[in-house]
Amino acid sequence: MNSPSADAPLSLREIEAIARTAVDDGRMERAAAARIGRRLGDPAVLGAVAEAAHEAKLRWRGAIVTVSRNVFLPLTNLCRDRCTYCTFAKSPGDPGAKTYTLGEVREISRAARSAGCIEALFCLGDKPELAFASYREWLAAQGYPSTAAYLVEACRVAVSEGMLPHTNAGLLTQEQMAALRPWNASMGLMLETTSERLMAKGGAHHAAPDKQPSLRLRMHHEAGELRIPFTTGMLLGIGETADERVDTLFAIRALADHYGHVQEAILQPFHPKADTKMRDRATPVEDDVVGWVALARLVLGPGVSVQAPPNLATLTGDRLLDRLLRAGADDFGGVSPLSIDFINPEAPWPKLDALRRRTEAAGQMLRERLPVYPEQLARSELFDPAMRERCLALADADGYARARERAGASEVAA
Ligand code: SF4
Repeated sequence: MNSPSADAPLSLREIEAIARTAVDDGRMERAAAARIGRRLGDPAVLGAVAEAAHEAKLRWRGAIVTVSRNVFLPLTNLCRDRCTYCTFAKSPGDPGAKTYTLGEVREISRAARSAGCIEALFCLGDKPELAFASYREWLAAQGYPSTAAYLVEACRVAVSEGMLPHTNAGLLTQEQMAALRPWNASMGLMLETTSERLMAKGGAHHAAPDKQPSLRLRMHHEAGELRIPFTTGMLLGIGETADERVDTLFAIRALADHYGHVQEAILQPFHPKADTKMRDRATPVEDDVVGWVALARLVLGPGVSVQAPPNLATLTGDRLLDRLLRAGADDFGGVSPLSIDFINPEAPWPKLDALRRRTEAAGQMLRERLPVYPEQLARSELFDPAMRERCLALADADGYARARERAGASEVAA
Protein backbone atom coordinates (compact mmCIF):
# COMPACT_ATOMS: atom_id res chain seq x y z
CA MET A 1 0.00 0.00 0.00
CA ASN A 2 1.33 3.42 -0.95
CA SER A 3 1.85 5.99 1.84
CA PRO A 4 -0.13 9.23 1.35
CA SER A 5 1.77 11.94 -0.50
CA ALA A 6 2.94 14.89 1.60
CA ASP A 7 1.14 17.11 -0.90
CA ALA A 8 -2.16 15.21 -0.98
CA PRO A 9 -5.05 17.25 0.42
CA LEU A 10 -5.73 16.48 4.08
CA SER A 11 -9.17 15.32 5.08
CA LEU A 12 -11.19 17.43 7.49
CA ARG A 13 -10.72 14.80 10.17
CA GLU A 14 -6.94 14.91 9.70
CA ILE A 15 -6.97 18.70 9.91
CA GLU A 16 -9.00 18.62 13.12
CA ALA A 17 -6.53 16.14 14.61
CA ILE A 18 -3.50 18.25 13.61
CA ALA A 19 -5.10 21.39 15.05
CA ARG A 20 -5.90 19.59 18.34
CA THR A 21 -2.33 18.33 18.55
CA ALA A 22 -1.03 21.87 18.00
CA VAL A 23 -3.11 23.08 20.94
CA ASP A 24 -1.65 20.33 23.13
CA ASP A 25 1.94 20.69 21.85
CA GLY A 26 2.04 24.48 21.76
CA ARG A 27 2.75 24.68 18.05
CA MET A 28 2.01 23.31 14.60
CA GLU A 29 4.68 21.88 12.37
CA ARG A 30 5.57 23.37 9.04
CA ALA A 31 4.47 20.68 6.59
CA ALA A 32 1.07 20.48 8.26
CA ALA A 33 0.70 24.27 8.35
CA ALA A 34 1.49 24.51 4.64
CA ARG A 35 -1.08 21.88 3.76
CA ILE A 36 -3.71 23.49 5.97
CA GLY A 37 -2.87 26.98 4.69
CA ARG A 38 -3.79 25.89 1.17
CA ARG A 39 -7.17 24.63 2.45
CA LEU A 40 -8.26 27.61 4.56
CA GLY A 41 -10.70 28.71 1.86
CA ASP A 42 -12.85 25.68 2.76
CA PRO A 43 -15.35 26.87 5.42
CA ALA A 44 -15.20 23.56 7.32
CA VAL A 45 -11.39 23.72 7.50
CA LEU A 46 -11.53 27.36 8.55
CA GLY A 47 -14.04 26.50 11.28
CA ALA A 48 -11.84 23.70 12.67
CA VAL A 49 -8.68 25.84 12.67
CA ALA A 50 -10.44 28.86 14.22
CA GLU A 51 -11.96 26.73 16.97
CA ALA A 52 -8.57 25.21 17.83
CA ALA A 53 -6.90 28.64 17.73
CA HIS A 54 -9.46 30.05 20.14
CA GLU A 55 -8.90 27.18 22.54
CA ALA A 56 -5.13 27.63 22.20
CA LYS A 57 -5.42 31.33 22.91
CA LEU A 58 -7.48 30.77 26.06
CA ARG A 59 -5.19 28.01 27.26
CA TRP A 60 -1.91 29.76 26.46
CA ARG A 61 -2.66 33.41 27.12
CA GLY A 62 -5.85 33.40 29.18
CA ALA A 63 -9.17 35.17 28.60
CA ILE A 64 -7.43 38.53 28.23
CA VAL A 65 -7.15 40.76 25.17
CA THR A 66 -4.73 43.67 25.35
CA VAL A 67 -4.59 47.15 23.89
CA SER A 68 -2.12 50.03 24.19
CA ARG A 69 -3.47 53.56 24.55
CA ASN A 70 -1.04 55.50 22.40
CA VAL A 71 -0.30 58.57 20.36
CA PHE A 72 0.99 58.20 16.81
CA LEU A 73 4.00 60.40 16.09
CA PRO A 74 4.97 60.14 12.42
CA LEU A 75 8.26 61.98 12.93
CA THR A 76 8.64 62.32 9.17
CA ASN A 77 6.50 60.99 6.37
CA LEU A 78 9.29 61.47 3.87
CA CYS A 79 10.42 58.06 2.65
CA ARG A 80 12.86 56.87 0.02
CA ASP A 81 10.72 53.84 -0.86
CA ARG A 82 7.53 53.60 -2.87
CA CYS A 83 5.47 50.55 -1.89
CA THR A 84 2.54 50.30 -4.28
CA TYR A 85 -0.09 50.20 -1.49
CA CYS A 86 1.16 53.17 0.55
CA THR A 87 -0.21 56.70 0.85
CA PHE A 88 1.90 57.57 3.89
CA ALA A 89 5.15 58.18 2.01
CA LYS A 90 5.77 61.69 0.69
CA SER A 91 8.51 63.61 -1.09
CA PRO A 92 9.52 67.14 -0.01
CA GLY A 93 7.05 69.65 -1.46
CA ASP A 94 4.20 67.11 -1.74
CA PRO A 95 0.94 68.23 -0.13
CA GLY A 96 0.95 66.79 3.39
CA ALA A 97 4.73 66.25 3.55
CA LYS A 98 5.75 66.83 7.15
CA THR A 99 8.65 66.44 9.53
CA TYR A 100 7.87 67.19 13.16
CA THR A 101 10.05 69.56 15.13
CA LEU A 102 11.23 68.52 18.57
CA GLY A 103 8.98 71.24 19.98
CA GLU A 104 5.98 69.58 18.32
CA VAL A 105 7.07 66.19 19.65
CA ARG A 106 7.16 67.66 23.16
CA GLU A 107 3.77 69.32 22.80
CA ILE A 108 2.09 66.17 21.45
CA SER A 109 3.74 63.97 24.08
CA ARG A 110 2.55 66.27 26.85
CA ALA A 111 -1.03 66.28 25.52
CA ALA A 112 -0.95 62.51 25.11
CA ARG A 113 0.26 61.91 28.64
CA SER A 114 -2.50 64.06 30.07
CA ALA A 115 -5.01 62.08 27.96
CA GLY A 116 -3.82 58.91 29.70
CA CYS A 117 -1.67 57.62 26.82
CA ILE A 118 1.53 55.79 27.70
CA GLU A 119 2.92 54.72 24.33
CA ALA A 120 4.52 57.18 21.91
CA LEU A 121 4.45 55.32 18.60
CA PHE A 122 7.21 56.70 16.40
CA CYS A 123 6.42 55.40 12.94
CA LEU A 124 8.19 57.06 10.03
CA GLY A 125 9.47 56.79 6.50
CA ASP A 126 12.62 54.88 5.64
CA LYS A 127 15.93 56.78 5.28
CA PRO A 128 14.60 59.87 3.48
CA GLU A 129 17.99 61.54 3.82
CA LEU A 130 19.35 59.18 1.17
CA ALA A 131 16.81 60.39 -1.41
CA PHE A 132 16.15 64.06 -0.68
CA ALA A 133 18.93 66.68 -0.54
CA SER A 134 16.66 69.39 0.94
CA TYR A 135 15.75 67.12 3.86
CA ARG A 136 19.39 66.10 4.31
CA GLU A 137 20.32 69.78 4.54
CA TRP A 138 17.50 70.46 7.01
CA LEU A 139 18.68 67.59 9.22
CA ALA A 140 22.29 68.83 9.07
CA ALA A 141 21.16 72.33 9.99
CA GLN A 142 19.52 70.84 13.10
CA GLY A 143 22.80 69.05 13.88
CA TYR A 144 21.79 65.50 12.94
CA PRO A 145 23.61 63.27 10.44
CA SER A 146 20.64 60.97 9.90
CA THR A 147 16.93 60.49 10.58
CA ALA A 148 17.89 57.78 13.07
CA ALA A 149 20.00 60.27 15.06
CA TYR A 150 17.14 62.79 15.03
CA LEU A 151 14.79 60.05 16.16
CA VAL A 152 16.95 59.31 19.21
CA GLU A 153 16.52 62.91 20.28
CA ALA A 154 12.76 62.80 19.61
CA CYS A 155 12.46 59.68 21.77
CA ARG A 156 14.38 61.43 24.57
CA VAL A 157 11.92 64.30 24.39
CA ALA A 158 8.93 61.93 24.59
CA VAL A 159 10.50 60.14 27.56
CA SER A 160 11.08 63.46 29.31
CA GLU A 161 7.30 64.03 29.06
CA GLY A 162 6.57 60.70 30.70
CA MET A 163 5.85 58.67 27.56
CA LEU A 164 7.27 55.26 26.64
CA PRO A 165 8.38 55.23 22.99
CA HIS A 166 7.90 52.32 20.61
CA THR A 167 9.81 52.97 17.39
CA ASN A 168 9.17 51.59 13.94
CA ALA A 169 11.47 53.53 11.63
CA GLY A 170 11.94 51.01 8.85
CA LEU A 171 15.32 49.40 8.35
CA LEU A 172 17.87 50.41 10.96
CA THR A 173 21.45 49.31 11.49
CA GLN A 174 22.43 47.50 14.65
CA GLU A 175 24.31 50.61 15.75
CA GLN A 176 21.19 52.77 15.27
CA MET A 177 19.05 50.32 17.22
CA ALA A 178 21.61 50.29 20.02
CA ALA A 179 21.39 54.09 20.21
CA LEU A 180 17.57 53.96 20.32
CA ARG A 181 17.34 51.11 22.85
CA PRO A 182 17.77 53.21 26.04
CA TRP A 183 14.92 55.47 24.91
CA ASN A 184 12.46 52.83 23.76
CA ALA A 185 10.37 50.34 25.71
CA SER A 186 10.15 48.21 22.58
CA MET A 187 10.77 48.52 18.87
CA GLY A 188 9.44 46.96 15.71
CA LEU A 189 9.62 46.28 12.02
CA MET A 190 6.92 44.53 10.05
CA LEU A 191 8.59 41.62 8.28
CA GLU A 192 5.54 41.91 5.96
CA THR A 193 6.52 38.95 3.79
CA THR A 194 9.49 36.76 3.02
CA SER A 195 8.46 36.68 -0.64
CA GLU A 196 11.30 37.81 -2.93
CA ARG A 197 8.83 37.66 -5.83
CA LEU A 198 7.18 40.87 -4.67
CA MET A 199 10.46 42.75 -5.28
CA ALA A 200 10.23 42.00 -9.01
CA LYS A 201 8.79 44.38 -11.59
CA GLY A 202 5.04 44.65 -11.05
CA GLY A 203 5.35 43.48 -7.43
CA ALA A 204 4.26 45.55 -4.43
CA HIS A 205 7.87 46.08 -3.31
CA HIS A 206 9.58 46.65 -6.66
CA ALA A 207 10.33 50.31 -5.84
CA ALA A 208 11.07 49.68 -2.17
CA PRO A 209 14.68 48.55 -1.62
CA ASP A 210 14.11 48.53 2.14
CA LYS A 211 11.46 45.82 1.75
CA GLN A 212 14.09 43.27 0.68
CA PRO A 213 13.17 40.32 2.92
CA SER A 214 16.77 39.34 3.66
CA LEU A 215 17.52 42.86 4.96
CA ARG A 216 14.41 42.87 7.13
CA LEU A 217 15.25 39.44 8.51
CA ARG A 218 18.75 40.67 9.28
CA MET A 219 17.33 43.56 11.32
CA HIS A 220 15.13 41.10 13.25
CA HIS A 221 18.24 39.04 14.03
CA GLU A 222 20.20 42.10 15.11
CA ALA A 223 17.34 43.26 17.35
CA GLY A 224 17.47 39.80 18.92
CA GLU A 225 21.20 40.10 19.50
CA LEU A 226 20.60 43.48 21.14
CA ARG A 227 17.79 41.98 23.26
CA ILE A 228 15.10 44.44 22.25
CA PRO A 229 11.43 43.51 22.84
CA PHE A 230 10.30 43.40 19.24
CA THR A 231 7.11 43.69 17.22
CA THR A 232 6.87 42.16 13.79
CA GLY A 233 4.07 41.11 11.50
CA MET A 234 2.75 39.97 8.17
CA LEU A 235 0.71 41.80 5.54
CA LEU A 236 -2.18 39.87 4.04
CA GLY A 237 -3.20 40.49 0.46
CA ILE A 238 -0.28 42.26 -1.25
CA GLY A 239 0.22 39.51 -3.80
CA GLU A 240 1.68 36.73 -1.67
CA THR A 241 0.62 33.08 -1.91
CA ALA A 242 -0.59 30.81 0.90
CA ASP A 243 2.78 29.03 0.93
CA GLU A 244 4.58 32.36 1.19
CA ARG A 245 2.40 33.31 4.17
CA VAL A 246 3.40 30.06 5.85
CA ASP A 247 7.08 30.81 5.10
CA THR A 248 6.69 34.24 6.69
CA LEU A 249 5.07 32.82 9.83
CA PHE A 250 7.81 30.23 10.20
CA ALA A 251 10.51 32.85 9.74
CA ILE A 252 8.92 34.79 12.61
CA ARG A 253 8.72 31.65 14.73
CA ALA A 254 12.38 30.82 14.11
CA LEU A 255 13.38 34.32 15.26
CA ALA A 256 11.19 34.09 18.35
CA ASP A 257 12.60 30.66 19.21
CA HIS A 258 16.19 31.74 18.73
CA TYR A 259 16.23 35.06 20.55
CA GLY A 260 13.02 35.18 22.61
CA HIS A 261 12.60 38.85 21.73
CA VAL A 262 9.49 38.69 19.49
CA GLN A 263 6.63 39.89 21.64
CA GLU A 264 3.92 40.09 19.00
CA ALA A 265 3.08 39.50 15.36
CA ILE A 266 0.60 41.82 13.67
CA LEU A 267 -1.64 40.27 11.03
CA GLN A 268 -2.50 43.28 8.92
CA PRO A 269 -4.89 42.96 6.00
CA PHE A 270 -4.15 45.08 2.96
CA HIS A 271 -6.71 47.80 2.37
CA PRO A 272 -6.78 49.57 -1.02
CA LYS A 273 -6.27 53.31 -1.15
CA ALA A 274 -7.13 55.75 -3.91
CA ASP A 275 -4.10 57.20 -5.71
CA THR A 276 -2.06 54.02 -5.33
CA LYS A 277 -1.16 51.41 -7.93
CA MET A 278 -3.06 48.81 -5.89
CA ARG A 279 -6.26 50.85 -5.64
CA ASP A 280 -8.25 48.26 -7.62
CA ARG A 281 -7.08 45.23 -5.66
CA ALA A 282 -9.65 43.91 -3.21
CA THR A 283 -9.02 43.72 0.51
CA PRO A 284 -8.79 40.11 1.76
CA VAL A 285 -12.23 38.68 2.49
CA GLU A 286 -13.26 38.15 6.10
CA ASP A 287 -12.69 34.39 6.02
CA ASP A 288 -9.17 34.93 4.71
CA VAL A 289 -8.27 37.24 7.61
CA VAL A 290 -9.88 34.99 10.24
CA GLY A 291 -8.21 31.87 8.83
CA TRP A 292 -4.70 33.34 8.83
CA VAL A 293 -5.03 34.90 12.27
CA ALA A 294 -6.06 31.45 13.51
CA LEU A 295 -3.26 29.64 11.71
CA ALA A 296 -0.74 32.23 12.96
CA ARG A 297 -1.87 31.55 16.52
CA LEU A 298 -1.32 27.80 16.12
CA VAL A 299 2.05 28.23 14.38
CA LEU A 300 3.55 30.92 16.61
CA GLY A 301 2.73 29.21 19.89
CA PRO A 302 2.17 30.55 23.39
CA GLY A 303 5.02 33.05 23.60
CA VAL A 304 4.05 35.41 20.76
CA SER A 305 0.97 37.60 20.86
CA VAL A 306 -1.18 37.71 17.70
CA GLN A 307 -2.38 41.24 17.04
CA ALA A 308 -5.38 42.23 14.91
CA PRO A 309 -5.59 46.00 14.21
CA PRO A 310 -9.14 46.86 15.34
CA ASN A 311 -9.64 49.83 13.03
CA LEU A 312 -9.09 47.63 9.97
CA ALA A 313 -11.29 44.91 11.48
CA THR A 314 -14.21 47.27 12.08
CA LEU A 315 -14.20 49.17 8.77
CA THR A 316 -17.31 47.26 7.72
CA GLY A 317 -18.93 46.74 11.13
CA ASP A 318 -18.22 44.56 14.15
CA ARG A 319 -18.56 41.10 12.59
CA LEU A 320 -14.92 40.57 11.65
CA LEU A 321 -13.72 41.81 15.03
CA ASP A 322 -16.10 39.44 16.80
CA ARG A 323 -14.84 36.54 14.72
CA LEU A 324 -11.19 37.41 15.36
CA LEU A 325 -11.87 37.44 19.09
CA ARG A 326 -12.93 33.80 18.69
CA ALA A 327 -10.08 32.79 16.39
CA GLY A 328 -6.92 33.31 18.40
CA ALA A 329 -6.32 37.08 18.32
CA ASP A 330 -5.21 38.35 21.72
CA ASP A 331 -4.17 41.96 21.13
CA PHE A 332 -5.52 45.07 19.43
CA GLY A 333 -2.22 46.97 19.29
CA GLY A 334 -2.24 50.73 19.65
CA VAL A 335 -5.49 52.69 19.81
CA SER A 336 -5.31 56.46 20.17
CA PRO A 337 -7.64 59.05 21.70
CA LEU A 338 -5.63 61.81 20.00
CA SER A 339 -4.23 60.81 16.66
CA ILE A 340 -5.39 59.04 13.54
CA ASP A 341 -3.78 55.94 12.05
CA PHE A 342 -1.48 57.77 9.64
CA ILE A 343 -0.80 54.56 7.71
CA ASN A 344 -4.52 53.80 7.24
CA PRO A 345 -6.14 57.23 7.60
CA GLU A 346 -9.39 55.92 6.15
CA ALA A 347 -9.82 53.61 9.15
CA PRO A 348 -10.81 55.46 12.35
CA TRP A 349 -10.00 53.90 15.71
CA PRO A 350 -12.95 52.25 17.42
CA LYS A 351 -13.73 53.63 20.87
CA LEU A 352 -12.03 51.79 23.72
CA ASP A 353 -15.41 51.36 25.40
CA ALA A 354 -16.73 49.62 22.31
CA LEU A 355 -13.67 47.34 22.19
CA ARG A 356 -14.20 46.51 25.84
CA ARG A 357 -17.85 45.61 25.21
CA ARG A 358 -17.06 43.44 22.21
CA THR A 359 -14.26 41.67 24.08
CA GLU A 360 -16.55 40.96 27.01
CA ALA A 361 -19.27 39.72 24.67
CA ALA A 362 -16.68 37.18 23.48
CA GLY A 363 -16.20 36.04 27.10
CA GLN A 364 -12.87 37.81 27.59
CA MET A 365 -11.50 40.88 29.32
CA LEU A 366 -9.83 43.92 27.76
CA ARG A 367 -6.70 45.12 29.55
CA GLU A 368 -4.55 48.10 28.71
CA ARG A 369 -0.85 47.34 28.39
CA LEU A 370 2.38 49.26 27.91
CA PRO A 371 4.23 49.18 24.55
CA VAL A 372 5.85 46.10 26.04
CA TYR A 373 3.95 43.03 27.24
CA PRO A 374 4.03 41.78 30.85
CA GLU A 375 6.01 38.67 29.81
CA GLN A 376 8.80 40.80 28.34
CA LEU A 377 8.70 43.33 31.17
CA ALA A 378 9.46 40.51 33.60
CA ARG A 379 12.79 39.88 31.81
CA SER A 380 15.30 42.51 32.90
CA GLU A 381 17.85 41.47 30.26
CA LEU A 382 15.58 42.91 27.55
CA PHE A 383 15.96 46.48 28.80
CA ASP A 384 18.30 49.28 29.53
CA PRO A 385 17.94 49.47 33.35
CA ALA A 386 16.62 53.05 33.41
CA MET A 387 14.04 52.29 30.72
CA ARG A 388 12.86 49.22 32.63
CA GLU A 389 12.44 51.36 35.74
CA ARG A 390 10.31 53.80 33.73
CA CYS A 391 8.17 50.93 32.46
CA LEU A 392 7.75 49.39 35.90
CA ALA A 393 6.70 52.77 37.31
CA LEU A 394 3.77 52.81 34.85
CA ALA A 395 2.84 49.15 35.32
CA ASP A 396 0.61 47.41 37.83
CA ALA A 397 1.58 44.26 39.72
CA ASP A 398 0.62 42.11 36.71
CA GLY A 399 2.71 44.16 34.26
CA TYR A 400 -0.24 45.88 32.57
CA ALA A 401 -0.79 49.66 32.43
CA ARG A 402 -1.44 51.02 35.88
CA ALA A 403 -5.00 52.29 36.29
CA ARG A 404 -3.99 55.57 37.91
CA GLU A 405 -1.77 56.41 34.92
CA ARG A 406 -4.92 56.38 32.87
CA ALA A 407 -7.04 58.30 35.36
CA GLY A 408 -8.87 61.19 33.80
CA ALA A 409 -8.14 59.92 30.33
CA SER A 410 -10.76 61.00 27.87
CA GLU A 411 -12.56 58.62 25.57
CA VAL A 412 -12.62 61.26 22.84
CA ALA A 413 -11.92 59.14 19.82
CA ALA A 414 -10.76 56.00 21.54
S1 SF4 B 1 5.07 51.39 3.34
FE1 SF4 B 1 6.75 52.31 4.54
S2 SF4 B 1 8.60 51.87 3.33
FE2 SF4 B 1 6.84 51.58 1.95
S3 SF4 B 1 6.60 53.59 0.95
FE3 SF4 B 1 5.23 53.58 2.74
S4 SF4 B 1 6.44 54.54 4.36
FE4 SF4 B 1 7.87 53.94 2.76
